[in-house]
Amino acid sequence: MTRFLCICLALCSLFSQSVIAGRLPDSLKFDQVADGVYVYTGKIEDVFSSPYGLVANSTFIVGDKSVAVIDTGTSLRQGRLIRKAIRDVTSLPVSHVINSHVHLDHIFGNRAFLDDHPEFVAHKKILSDLQSKAPYYQDRLADQPNSLWYKGTGPVKPTLLIEKVTEIDLGGRLLMLEPHGRAHTLHDLSVYDQKTRTLITGDLVFEQHCPSIDGSITGWITVLEGLRTLPYDRLVPGHGRVLSGTEEIDKQIAYLSALTDAVREAVANQVDIYTASTTLLQDHRDNWKLFDAFHARNVIQAYKELEWE
Ligand SMILES: [Zn+2]
Repeated sequence: MTRFLCICLALCSLFSQSVIAGRLPDSLKFDQVADGVYVYTGKIEDVFSSPYGLVANSTFIVGDKSVAVIDTGTSLRQGRLIRKAIRDVTSLPVSHVINSHVHLDHIFGNRAFLDDHPEFVAHKKILSDLQSKAPYYQDRLADQPNSLWYKGTGPVKPTLLIEKVTEIDLGGRLLMLEPHGRAHTLHDLSVYDQKTRTLITGDLVFEQHCPSIDGSITGWITVLEGLRTLPYDRLVPGHGRVLSGTEEIDKQIAYLSALTDAVREAVANQVDIYTASTTLLQDHRDNWKLFDAFHARNVIQAYKELEWE
């Protein structure tokens, strides 16, 4: 009886939260963007303001023998919806869960794949950030108005750490994993599917969504200049639509370069960090969604990096 009551209360709570935040998501729409490459395009919203945190892109790639999934979303529930979408396409085992970087909207769905016993793959340098950030992320999710959606969500320790360009084989299908130097974070990992010339960048590339700096502004520009020369036919960014060509990378380089110049000038003119964060590059506002949520923090990150050059 007590157990029955608990289940009823949990269902009522979930129902009332779903009334607050709209209907509970029960599936994620993946588009096949190339032969065997499926992409879920997240909403352009801030992860902590978006009702279910369905904000980052996720990709899965199907080989002859197994499946790799790149980024699993913000919650155990989202991870399960991704797993369900994979099962709608194939019954092949999930051999690799690849984490593009530490941010929760990309890797907190990992636990949905534990029973598949895949390799959980990440950049070698992710570990210290994972250790320091994961508890903070879990606390934030527990404070969300619909915290029940995030129940059971948490990190999974990587089982395969990448320190140099590494090939993985899904059966007749090779993926090249490249660990990058300091850029969006200190441990970004990109994936290149040779068969369809598809490049999955995680948050090294943003489309529409204002980029957010959590690594190094100068390092990020260098990495983007390298990415734009790669022979891809399509590029899956961390946020926003699937791209072709280099236009969006160039737009992002232009923003980061202008920010670098503006911050260097502010430092030289002894403009303080707070004033800089509220005044620099305000004319870029219309170029990006979520500019007000991310730009001021970017200025502060860049200022802290560049002031001691
Ligand atoms: Zn990120």
